[in-house]
Amino acid sequence: MDGLHAENAVVGGIGEDAEERYRALAYDTALSTLVAVAVYVVVKVSLDGIRQWRARISVLIVGSGPVGLTAALVAVRSGKVLKLTVLDERYRTALLCRPQQIALDPRSVKFLLGLGVDFDNMEGCWHNDHFFTRIGVFQEYLLSILEQKKQKVDVKVQLGTKFTEEYLRRIPRNEWPRVIVVADGSCGESCSVLGISSDYTVESCHAYGANATIERLDQRQVPTPEIRAHSLYFDLSAYGVEAPREHRNVTAKPGFHLKIYGTFRNRYMALACPASDTKMVRFLRHTANSSIMKNIFHQSFNVYKTDIEPRLNDVTLHHMQCSRRLFEIQLSHRRISAAYIEGDNVAVTVEGEAARVLNFDTGCGVNLGMQGLESMGTFIYRTATAVDQNDILEALSAKMQHSRQVAETFKLTDLAHSMYE
Ligand SMILES: Cc1cc2nc3c(=O)[nH]c(=O)nc-3n(C[C@H](O)[C@H](O)[C@H](O)COP(=O)(O)OP(=O)(O)OC[C@H]3O[C@@H](n4cnc5c(N)ncnc54)[C@H](O)[C@@H]3O)c2cc1C
Repeated sequence: MDGLHAENAVVGGIGEDAEERYRALAYDTALSTLVAVAVYVVVKVSLDGIRQWRARISVLIVGSGPVGLTAALVAVRSGKVLKLTVLDERYRTALLCRPQQIALDPRSVKFLLGLGVDFDNMEGCWHNDHFFTRIGVFQEYLLSILEQKKQKVDVKVQLGTKFTEEYLRRIPRNEWPRVIVVADGSCGESCSVLGISSDYTVESCHAYGANATIERLDQRQVPTPEIRAHSLYFDLSAYGVEAPREHRNVTAKPGFHLKIYGTFRNRYMALACPASDTKMVRFLRHTANSSIMKNIFHQSFNVYKTDIEPRLNDVTLHHMQCSRRLFEIQLSHRRISAAYIEGDNVAVTVEGEAARVLNFDTGCGVNLGMQGLESMGTFIYRTATAVDQNDILEALSAKMQHSRQVAETFKLTDLAHSMYE
């Protein structure tokens, strides 16, 4: 009996030992697997981090208008650009002497402040939280910032250089940019050089408008705040249009909105109203008599201009050019605003007026372009750190979605902000 117990005890002892060893082995295996996984994760995350941190790409920007140069500023500040080339077919003098003034709205001002733009160091003026400056002053300021960034990023500004097929052919294959930003304005043709479709979606903004320009070379070319006037009616009774009765029902027929902007030397005017079918609107949309619109702008200018600028009279009236009649305000935006050139691994994005343009000048046009650039920093980051083609395609798709959203928001709210309020 005792022998049997002893034998059982030994067998029991061996069983427990084995079980313990198995448990210890399983524990060791689990622990080492866990450590291996943890080491793998840490190494992978660190390597990815290092790769992302070190990732730098080459960017080419076509067009040195306000949008192209702001895109250049976004690029150099992204920390992901090793080499930046900015082109414009115009030489410096032609580029900086454009007479238009630009009006940066509070959203654009905030965006530009975030990019380090110092409005205190730029000639211009503030009015209603908008910053007004000459387009050339803004461009010159951005060019000077790019100049300062040359120590950190290899920045080349090539003015007097047109982007063409020949230009592309001359770039050695191994030096092709990873990102091309096309910001060549409403008449640019760079998209066709890159094989990007020039199909546009044209959408009504459900409003009518007309524009006028007055050039008076004896006047000053200094930044000037805009003037807005609302609920305007015009006496067209001489043409058989009875305005007074319509006038009384103000809520149903909110009248016209007028804006006078630009410098005293180059004055611009925009007249707009929400789409409606009143007698006056119908008449102004279809009249063949172009002097009616001219008279409206002439009279409106003299009523609403600043006190210190001269009136328009019959002698100076020939300095004014204007739309012949009211037209439907339409926004055209590219169907394809981002593309991938597969063989060369280049991501292209189209910005500013090259991407979307109004047939009506609101005096705030540049802000549409600035809104499009709000996704540029993320786009450059995602393209620079992309692991494969899928990542780049996803970045392009997000960019295109944002571009569509900018157009949509403009139709819904921005036209009203820039004209009716
Ligand atoms: C008469 C007028 C008055 C305006 N008034 C106002 C205003 O008061 N307030 C306001 O906010 N906005 C105003 N605007 C609108 C404003 O000027 C535009 O919104 C703005 O200029 C658009 O900027 P962008 O950079 O997209 O294009 P652009 O300013 O047109 O710049 C495009 C650049 O690309 C260059 N380019 C073209 N093709 C090539 C090529 N193949 N290779 C190299 N370079 C090329 C061109 O030379 C140009 O310099 C006005 C516009 C006009 C026409």
